[in-house]
Amino acid sequence: MLTVAALASLIILGYAAFYLIKCYAVPFGPCRRCKGAGERRGRIIRLKRECPRCAGTGKRVRVGRRVIERIRTEYRAGNQ
Ligand SMILES: [Zn+2]
Repeated sequence: MLTVAALASLIILGYAAFYLIKCYAVPFGPCRRCKGAGERRGRIIRLKRECPRCAGTGKRVRVGRRVIERIRTEYRAGNQ
């Protein structure tokens, strides 16, 4: 049973590492609200409007990238 748990944690760690590398390489992902279009239509008035979440860019910063940046600033603050 121990080996199964060890293997599972290894897979999780490997996936987390892969995700962080992915976030480092490609910090931006498509905006979920407008699906990368940068604009969305209003619910009542069907006019194209700039997506408020990504400000019309269609991209958003990945959560993992924010984590990396937070770790980096903490690391820098501690090494001054
Ligand atoms: Zn958007």
